[in-house]
Amino acid sequence: MEKTKVAFFDFASCEGCQLQVINLEEDLLQVVGAVDVVSFREAMKGHANDYHVAFVEGSITRRSDEARLKDIRTHAKVLVALGSCATLGGINCLKNFQEQDYVRKFVYGNKASQYETYPARPLRAVVPVDLQIPGCPINRKEFAMVVKALLMGKRPEIPNYPVCVECKMAENICVFDKDMTCMGPVTRAGCGACCITEGSFCWGCRGFVDDPNVDSQREILAKHQLGVQDILRQFRLYTGFSEVAK
Ligand code: SF4
Ligand code: SF4
Ligand code: SF4
Repeated sequence: MEKTKVAFFDFASCEGCQLQVINLEEDLLQVVGAVDVVSFREAMKGHANDYHVAFVEGSITRRSDEARLKDIRTHAKVLVALGSCATLGGINCLKNFQEQDYVRKFVYGNKASQYETYPARPLRAVVPVDLQIPGCPINRKEFAMVVKALLMGKRPEIPNYPVCVECKMAENICVFDKDMTCMGPVTRAGCGACCITEGSFCWGCRGFVDDPNVDSQREILAKHQLGVQDILRQFRLYTGFSEVAK
């Protein structure tokens, strides 16, 4: 039986999500055994335009990116957005709140005029996206689960409840009781609340759950002495493209 052909592509990103795929170790062997990888710049030479599934990392930050993404879309029967940059716009959207000329000069100095840029956006703002794997970076196990589900013709289940649920299951002390703040109440679970377990707080990298209680989250943050700008900063770190961060 012919294996499913898959390809990996990247736009503006740190390539950390693709590295997670390469670091799959024993699961990678299973995944690679089940699919035919025809393009993966991070891991192999060669490229073919004949693929069924496209995994796309990174956000769209230039008008010229759009044509390339649309071309990928025409070849792929299934397009999967990989990580926060691709699913949300992610941290690249921080520049959307600055003057674009200022950002360009800041990064490229006196060569700024040679570089094109526009406000960053997620893939779904340009083409239809079939599946989204959240996280910065993606969770390796979740990626393997999505690939296995796709191969079985099933829709993978990405959690649609807040990080707080996993945080309680991990028996963490809530960071709000330790004079810290946290985006866990409005952020999609699936990471096992790892940042809180490791002594930090949730930065919101997996994006909002569907219908997040944003007003309540703002109230909680305000109650913990965060001013409007601080609250906006928390909402904009990963989800600056969404309406609630405007
Ligand atoms: S989501 Fe995070 S880890 Fe993945 S490419 Fe973007 S910045 Fe890198
Ligand atoms: S630490 Fe964050 S994720 Fe955990 S329960 Fe508190 S608010 Fe929720
Ligand atoms: S705890 Fe929050 S910031 Fe950390 S991985 Fe999970 S969703 Fe991302």
